[in-house]
Amino acid sequence: MANVAVLGAGFVGLSAAYWLMRDGHQVTVYDPAGVAGGASYGNAGTFANYACIPVNNPSVFRDLPRFLLSSDSPFRLRWGYLPQLAPWLARFLWNSTERRYAASAGALSVLLSRAHDGYREMIEQANLAQFIRPSECLYLYSGAAAFRASEPALTLRRSLGVDFSIVSREQVQQMEPQLSPLFDRGVLFSGSWFLSDPEAFLKTQEAWLSQSGLRMETRAVNAIKPQPNGVLLETAAGSAAYDYVAVCAGAHSRPFAMQCGDRIPLDTERGYHITYPGTANLISRPVGWAERGFYMTPMEKGIRVAGTVELAGLNPRKHQGLLELLRFSSQRALPALTAPSESWLGFRPTLPDGLPVMGRSRASARVIYAFGHQHIGLTLGGLSGAVVADLVAGRTSPFSLAPYAADRFY
Ligand SMILES: Cc1cc2nc3c(=O)[nH]c(=O)nc-3n(C[C@H](O)[C@H](O)[C@H](O)COP(=O)(O)OP(=O)(O)OC[C@H]3O[C@@H](n4cnc5c(N)ncnc54)[C@H](O)[C@@H]3O)c2cc1C
Repeated sequence: MANVAVLGAGFVGLSAAYWLMRDGHQVTVYDPAGVAGGASYGNAGTFANYACIPVNNPSVFRDLPRFLLSSDSPFRLRWGYLPQLAPWLARFLWNSTERRYAASAGALSVLLSRAHDGYREMIEQANLAQFIRPSECLYLYSGAAAFRASEPALTLRRSLGVDFSIVSREQVQQMEPQLSPLFDRGVLFSGSWFLSDPEAFLKTQEAWLSQSGLRMETRAVNAIKPQPNGVLLETAAGSAAYDYVAVCAGAHSRPFAMQCGDRIPLDTERGYHITYPGTANLISRPVGWAERGFYMTPMEKGIRVAGTVELAGLNPRKHQGLLELLRFSSQRALPALTAPSESWLGFRPTLPDGLPVMGRSRASARVIYAFGHQHIGLTLGGLSGAVVADLVAGRTSPFSLAPYAADRFY
């Protein structure tokens, strides 16, 4: 049995704790924001096992100028952040060519096809089934041109084993009668599901793990220092020695990788949500609007409208224009929505090739990385936790981890 520290109490960190404890290890999770204090709190809640199309894809060369200049674009760049972002952006564009994008999509589909396996047992064991809603996600297009532009990506999805059906305007109205009739086409992703409350899911998981011996430390880790036979971890309360450390700190993981000799181009795609309390019965499933870049998900507390992408680093200042875009677009899509009650900003951890980092650090085999899950960290959390446990146990992973290695950027 090993003594393992996990940095981060989001979907990835708590899943790592689950799989490590299942192997009999003593696990301590550190997070200054407590459980679900990061991106895992406010996402759209979709188990998006169909989402193998990374943001780095050839359409960015066509769409980027419009995205940057249009007032109803769900994509924004804070120009003052550009000097810091430039190296990431250059790599992102380099990874958006047809060949590299197809390679990323293939590597994502390997993970996504196994994503449910990472959760199945955990959901049963830890009383999490109460949060699972088996309704499939519906992704909608308000313009024929946008749907046509998405066809190559749909073909690629199909070739990678994603099961979906195309639905007509009339079928959309039958499935979701409260939607305004502005949607031309939709894609229904078979086998996907969603969470009624991502935060409650994680808090329930943590409570169950704590009963089984998990130690939860609500404090920041300041540094990790690999030692010959373990890893020293520093917090404001002093230092502590562990046999292994798993870095699952999402968009905040980069400095820890630096401390272990890995210069990883991790940045963040910021995203937002607003909530309309008491409205959950207006739709029966997550409904996305492609051109506006968001999902509306009927959660326990009401419809959560979540999405958009802003490149502006970890600065906590919110972009009011994007929140306004979410508000007026959601009210246009679903006219019964009136007054949102909450707005939230979260930091998706994103690498320029759209793939997470999962593997060992350069400085020490005892430091294990699992971060950078971009738009699909809820979906891939369970599986990523199982990968962490495999690495600590020295078990061979059932699929090659080479595409996700930290050193792919050198
Ligand atoms: C608007 C939006 C919608 C999304 N929708 C979906 C969706 O529908 N489906 C999906 O699969 N994914 C979705 N995502 C993405 C998903 O939320 C993330 O990929 C996922 O939450 C990442 O999980 P994580 O555990 O890696 O990181 P996080 O949840 O961010 O957890 C990392 C934790 O590390 C902690 N931390 C920071 N610094 C330190 C430190 N020094 N020491 C210790 N801990 C530290 C933070 O407090 C944080 O709690 C969405 C994201 C956004 C923003």
